[in-house]
Amino acid sequence: MKKLVFVLVIIGLTSCESKFYTLDDFSSVEKIDAHYHIYSSGSNSFDLARKDNFKLFVINVFLGDCEEIVEDHQLYKKLAQENSSDFAFSTAFCLDGWDDPAWVENTISWIDQCVADGANSVKVWKNIGMEFRDKDSVLIQIDDPKFDPIFKHLSENNIPLIGHLGEPRNCWLPLNEMTTKTDSSYFSRHPEYHMYLHPEFPSYEDQIAARDRMLEKNPDLVFIGCHLGSLEWSVDELAKFLDRFPNAAVDMAARMGQLFYQTVEDREKVRNFFIQYQDRLLYGTDIADNGDDKEKFQTSIHKTWLRDWEYLATDHTMNSSLINGNFKGLQLPKEVVNKIYAENFKKWYKTF
Ligand SMILES: [Zn+2]
Repeated sequence: MKKLVFVLVIIGLTSCESKFYTLDDFSSVEKIDAHYHIYSSGSNSFDLARKDNFKLFVINVFLGDCEEIVEDHQLYKKLAQENSSDFAFSTAFCLDGWDDPAWVENTISWIDQCVADGANSVKVWKNIGMEFRDKDSVLIQIDDPKFDPIFKHLSENNIPLIGHLGEPRNCWLPLNEMTTKTDSSYFSRHPEYHMYLHPEFPSYEDQIAARDRMLEKNPDLVFIGCHLGSLEWSVDELAKFLDRFPNAAVDMAARMGQLFYQTVEDREKVRNFFIQYQDRLLYGTDIADNGDDKEKFQTSIHKTWLRDWEYLATDHTMNSSLINGNFKGLQLPKEVVNKIYAENFKKWYKTF
């Protein structure tokens, strides 16, 4: 009998130990940063990523300069050839020539060329809805019928659309009412995107509604919503979005602060959300590698990656410069951590 109890205790301890990762497991588990930017041909990112067991997914973005997309695409094509097993990339398209009847056709052939070069998806950015206007000065929204044939083409060819559309809800609040320091710091540096200062632009709700109308028109489109789908302020709202659009997933890039904030308020709710939607969430950071000071860059990136691992995998009590207050890590089960860090990316982007 004593022997049996001993065996049971050992089994109990082993199964308890194996259910969760520890901080020390960080570098032994395969991970993908599903939202990364590289603007340099240097190896700062790759050297650290290999050490920390990360693959990198670099997202090309149309920030306003069409030549920049082409240059970045050439860089990513080269990086993919040199690092095929741990690097993947998206493309983006340019809005110059929007009023030209050939714009749609040209855009589709650019996308096809990029996909032939190895891009696995297409990104659209918040400047659609917040910046670009047609020849009559009307703001172009993401559900504009002119995009229909492009998104139909993506659907038919199983090419995911990555969307950073709208902004965090904080963007429509004054700086001192924002819930995270990430947002108040970003919008104090970018008043042009701080919508509280631009009431003539569409509201937060208008931006989200335009995105949702676009998704309703394209039920077969695989959509990856960046930054928790711009619903970073409420896991309840995000859950409703994911229920409504089964072909959508979201990355967490640059929104850990909002998750920490909600964890301070109600950790169980956030943890249950992660478990319930474990197949729809992708870990990402929005880190940008400009080729600057290698040691400083790598130290800061390693710290971010390790902090997020600690939050998702352990139950340590933590604090972060992103918010006020202490919070406890979510300690998600291993299988959930594996999905968020790698399996979901492989499934949603059909890459690696
Ligand atoms: Zn980004």
